[in-house]
Amino acid sequence: MARKIGSRYTVHQVIGRGSAGTVWLGEGPDGPVAVKLLREDLAADQVLVGRFVQERAALTSLDHPRVVGVRDMVVDGSDLALVMELVQGTDLRSRLERDGALPPQTAASVIADVADGLAAAHAAGIVHRDVKPENVLLDLAAAPGPGGAPRAKLTDFGVARLVDAPRRTRATRIIGTPDYLAPEIIEGLEPRAAVDIYALATVLYELLAGFTPFGGGHTGAVLRRHVTEQVPPIPGLPDGLWRIISECLAKAPASRLRAAELAARLREQLPSLAGLPVLAVPSQGRAPAEEALTPGEAVYAEVDAGPGVHKRRRGPAVPLVPGVAPDSTRDTHTSLRRPSADELAAYAAESRAQRTAPGAGHRRDRQALLRRRRLLAVLLATVLLLAGAAAAWTAFAATAPDAGHRARPAVSGTAPRAP
Ligand code: ADP
Repeated sequence: MARKIGSRYTVHQVIGRGSAGTVWLGEGPDGPVAVKLLREDLAADQVLVGRFVQERAALTSLDHPRVVGVRDMVVDGSDLALVMELVQGTDLRSRLERDGALPPQTAASVIADVADGLAAAHAAGIVHRDVKPENVLLDLAAAPGPGGAPRAKLTDFGVARLVDAPRRTRATRIIGTPDYLAPEIIEGLEPRAAVDIYALATVLYELLAGFTPFGGGHTGAVLRRHVTEQVPPIPGLPDGLWRIISECLAKAPASRLRAAELAARLREQLPSLAGLPVLAVPSQGRAPAEEALTPGEAVYAEVDAGPGVHKRRRGPAVPLVPGVAPDSTRDTHTSLRRPSADELAAYAAESRAQRTAPGAGHRRDRQALLRRRRLLAVLLATVLLLAGAAAAWTAFAATAPDAGHRARPAVSGTAPRAP
């Protein structure tokens, strides 16, 4: 079924569906294209349409081999469409779901490609804000890279920001996907280029381990882990690659590598990674266990799902066992609630709770006991010292020449008689 989009494009068949709309295989004056038709409710939003027109120049001018080019942006009646370069291949999420984790060299090469695309975008002042496997397309028609790795291209530039029209989302909303959100976004800072680096390092981790470092369970739990937890190491990962990942997952945005540095550092590692098999990470395929929520997480759970007993599910975010439903925290959340000051304060309650946990209480009791013992020893030493001083004084007074004269009244209680 062919359909006209504007005066220049015709679309034929659906090749993909995403959160913002449907992607069609189409035809334009210069050959085949991919056309992303935005959802009807988005297309009906006048604020969004305004932004769409505004962003046209920035998005269509981003021209780089590692970025899926936006050729045109069409506003036609009720249709709002992004006309893109057609990539013949698959997206990285589908690849992960089909084959599981990738060998280290393939993973590093794919991420180096995406980092090249990000470097070009960042140089043009564009922050992606929604880097995740769904937005990385593998160009299977291009000659493969090192070790046969497919060439990768980053897509959906600006789409997250575009669909986040201010009328529909308030300042308290976050754009992004929970598993890949940099801690500074959760804390309310303006997203800068470093948020894309954090997200891309998360994708690299996921390609290697089969699951994201902070994903799994309730959205609130995922957000909390980004802000407070250290990244769990991947067993068997060569040091060089691990250092790159941990630098890019630094909580402080300024400590992360820049996109061009990231690409260069990854490429330096490629020769030493040649031939390494997929890492055997123990938690792959394990059924997620249920645990009680911390007070901080419970706040989110109540807001999202209402009052009641909520549990946290920990485990792999990527289902490697066929048939297991994907983890909900990897769904695209182009609009996500940012925790309020009260909710962030609940983290303090949580650490208080941890301080009053049974183990912590035991430690506290021991410390108090030691303090009391030390105080008692000091008091005892002071009393002994005073007693010694008093005894010495008495002995001295008794042997002094006029001691009897001066001492007697005090001893007898009578005044000296006159001669
Ligand atoms: P999402 O909104 O989840 O990021 P998209 O709407 O961008 O997903 O894309 C949905 C699917 O359409 C992708 O997973 C991919 O398979 C396909 N697709 C998107 N863009 C292109 C493109 N330029 N060329 C070929 N296929 C594409």
